[in-house]
Amino acid sequence: MKILFIGLGHMGSGMAANLAKAGHDVMAHDLSDAAVKRAVEAGCRAADGLAGAAAEADAVVSMLPAGKHVRDVYLGEAGIATRAREGTLFIDCSTIDGESAIAVGEGAKARGFAFVDAPVSGGTAAAEAGTLTFMVGGSTEDFERAREVLNAMGKNIFHAGDVGAGQAAKICNNMLLAISMIGTCEAFNLAEKLGLDAQTFFDISSKASGQCWSMTSYCPAPGPVPAAPSNRDYQPGFAAAMMLKDLRLAHNAAEKVRAATPLGTLSESLYTMMEAAGTDDLDFSGVMKLIRGDLQK
Ligand code: NAD
Repeated sequence: MKILFIGLGHMGSGMAANLAKAGHDVMAHDLSDAAVKRAVEAGCRAADGLAGAAAEADAVVSMLPAGKHVRDVYLGEAGIATRAREGTLFIDCSTIDGESAIAVGEGAKARGFAFVDAPVSGGTAAAEAGTLTFMVGGSTEDFERAREVLNAMGKNIFHAGDVGAGQAAKICNNMLLAISMIGTCEAFNLAEKLGLDAQTFFDISSKASGQCWSMTSYCPAPGPVPAAPSNRDYQPGFAAAMMLKDLRLAHNAAEKVRAATPLGTLSESLYTMMEAAGTDDLDFSGVMKLIRGDLQK
């Protein structure tokens, strides 16, 4: 399949490389020439201008920073929707606000294209390994078409509902992750102050009812999980700034539907403190430093 891939950053570079590895003809596009060069080295070819590549593509995959970039790339004056062939499948894998996903989906549909939002969970390691989890919003027919493309980049591919439902699943999951991470930090900090070392508390709690992914796969206290960022002074991984972006999306969405998210909102405030202290480039598990009262890098 001929695929135009837009946005070859931390996540998109690995994803585009995996599409090429799976035998797709991947046309790579990014505002950064260096990013395109890296993609070519990984088996893609440089898109010959966005317009030309869009007209050639059977599918377009995007991995961009935020809603405004996605709206612009697809529906802008010289956007993909002005160039692509009728019926082309658009797959946006960025984490963006649900309104933008729905607006781009409606705009694409009105012009005869298929669109799914397909945000991911898994981070850069999973993007490189081709083991991402995709949460897909779109019609059943469009989901089935997208699955063929997503299979090359992910291990778990879920149909969440109509366009926008992928973004809803993503922000709810990440809000829960932030809450569980902060709770895990509090428990390990208290355990230490009560005289339990991290390994002892981990051995007990990971087999008791406090067990959760933030503890057993990503422990924020150094020691028990060797691969966790806590063992490399909280270098990411998944940066606190990215988590804060997702918590703000969750907060805005919750306000619109009047859902109470007291712990999500508190989590957002704690990550905003990391942002204010200039430590939001640390991994999101670095919120442990804030809980310990050691916010400096
Ligand atoms: P990034 O900043 O590394 O990459 C974004 C890329 O998009 C950059 O290379 C940039 O040059 C390019 N770009 C921006 N505007 C463009 C445009 N108009 N046309 C073409 N290229 C353009 O970001 P990332 O970490 O790869 O994240 C991408 C998306 O994935 C975000 O929405 C993020 O929230 C989400 N996400 C990231 C992670 C992670 O661990 N990094 C995990 C899950 C989801």
